[in-house]
Amino acid sequence: MVNNARSVPMRTCIGCRAVEPSVHLIRVVVESSSLRSSQNGVVGPVAARVDRFGGLPGRGCWIHPQQSCLDMAGKRRAFSRALRTQGEINLSDVQAYVTQLAQAN
Ligand SMILES: [Zn+2]
Repeated sequence: MVNNARSVPMRTCIGCRAVEPSVHLIRVVVESSSLRSSQNGVVGPVAARVDRFGGLPGRGCWIHPQQSCLDMAGKRRAFSRALRTQGEINLSDVQAYVTQLAQAN
């Protein structure tokens, strides 16, 4: 019996597609207020937010907090697919988080 399989949740990075323990990835969710307006037929840019404290509700996806993974996900429109949104996604919060992290290291 492998204890780790149950105690460590594994997630797939939408950028590089690597499967990792979730602690190595950040969760990105669609901001619910922007999602609501798109469901009402107004397809505008929806805002993606980094779930910094693990408490944001809504559909989420996982990604390494790395520029390379962010770029790969952006090129493949992986955010739209993972978050099931239409139109543009505003990734400025995710970008800011990744940039901040890169500067801190
Ligand atoms: Zn990755």
